[in-house]
Amino acid sequence: MPTNSDLKENNLMEKIVSLCKRRGFVVQNSEIYGGLANSWDFGPLGVEVKRNIKNYWWKKNVIQRDDVFGLDSAIIMNPKVWEASGHLKSFSDPLVECKSCHNRFRFDDLKEGKYGKVVEKGEKYLCPYCQGELTEEKKFNLMFKTFLGPTEDKASIVYLRPETAQGIFINFKYILNTSRQKLPLGIAQIGKSFRNEITPSNFIFRVREFEQMELEYFVNPQEDEKWYQYWREERFNWFLKLGLKKENLRLREHQKDELAHYAKACTDIEYKFPFGWGELEGIANRTDYDLKNHQKYSQKDLQYFDEETKQSFFPYVIEPSVGVERSMLAFLLDSYCEEEAENGEKRIVLKLNPLLSPIKMAIFPLVRNQEIIRKKAQEIYFALKQELPYSIDYDEVGSIGRRYRRQDEIGTPWCVTIDHQTLEDDTVTIRDRDTMKQERISIKEIKQWLQEKI
Ligand code: ATP
Repeated sequence: MPTNSDLKENNLMEKIVSLCKRRGFVVQNSEIYGGLANSWDFGPLGVEVKRNIKNYWWKKNVIQRDDVFGLDSAIIMNPKVWEASGHLKSFSDPLVECKSCHNRFRFDDLKEGKYGKVVEKGEKYLCPYCQGELTEEKKFNLMFKTFLGPTEDKASIVYLRPETAQGIFINFKYILNTSRQKLPLGIAQIGKSFRNEITPSNFIFRVREFEQMELEYFVNPQEDEKWYQYWREERFNWFLKLGLKKENLRLREHQKDELAHYAKACTDIEYKFPFGWGELEGIANRTDYDLKNHQKYSQKDLQYFDEETKQSFFPYVIEPSVGVERSMLAFLLDSYCEEEAENGEKRIVLKLNPLLSPIKMAIFPLVRNQEIIRKKAQEIYFALKQELPYSIDYDEVGSIGRRYRRQDEIGTPWCVTIDHQTLEDDTVTIRDRDTMKQERISIKEIKQWLQEKI
């Protein structure tokens, strides 16, 4: 059987894209109209995986802590926000266009060969597609622009947020006052962000519309280094806890010349994707850049008043920022296996951490042509669905082996079979996805059994 690293070379990405489409995780957006380039929709199973990722992030970073508070700010904000944050001026990528085929390329990616073979003529780079001449480099702002209200004039221009973070900065004082929390104080937000990426690519890795999970952790400036290190470790361990293999994860500290305009330091948590190492999450020390600028542009006091020292100052901010879709892609890739099933056939299995599995348990009647067994299975299925906060599935089509295969492929950790013995002693078999071992437990234990596992 192939190992996971063989699979990496053996079209793992294509296999995941195909599985996602086939089984209802992810499908191309607007497919009935021929699609919209690099835009994706999440089907019933994809929605569950995304929700599980977000719930676990929220649980770890908000619910289980007493220093972090939640927020849900608007996507469209006063355009002054983007002036103050520097996005209007600096949120851009260097872009070149081919004078012959008119394809556009990110210049830094083109030089690194990300569009294929690098073609040079003398000192100049040529189009990697048609070898045509390229235009001079131009800065291209990544923010989507639209108009607020009926008139399409300059005064009504607004932007779709390219990060959720600014919604947090402009609410810093509001949350500080309503929570009555002293530093350190964290504010967390999950929501959509939009970037007019020049080269969206690699399935759901780089898209134009995505969800971010961002935490702005406001600290005393004298403690910024301590908290920066703390969040690097905390966030790295979050991915490990959810099952990513350690050898596929690394921390990469940014060089001074690649730091964003607001950052003093930044570390990326990178994952070894089949197309190379790629950023999953950025942990940045944003200093007091954002609060200072918002105070300057809004003329509102955004400083923190320390009751003990009786001094006011701008807190520093440590920001762990991660994308939901990118994380989902990493979890799917990392958990994909092809191995031998109970009956010697090949099985595809997503060995997802059960916390992330879209379906936690599937219920099967051993045979579907015996009404009494079928009825019992449906009874158990509907009762569990009502009583547990998890997605539970029911399947009666095909042999038990085929039903296991179907659940293995979507990462369902446990399958419950109702058989003749169930009718006699109210017990069922539970089959484990990874070990393929079965155990017998009583029906009334199922609920607690499952809750203890997750
Ligand atoms: P990249 O260098 O890959 O463009 P970035 O450094 O611009 O990413 P950040 O601004 O640090 O990304 O955003 C934080 C996180 O949001 C990223 O680590 C990533 O998980 C997610 N993210 C950013 N841009 C995209 C995108 N276009 N598609 C999907 N996720 C994204």
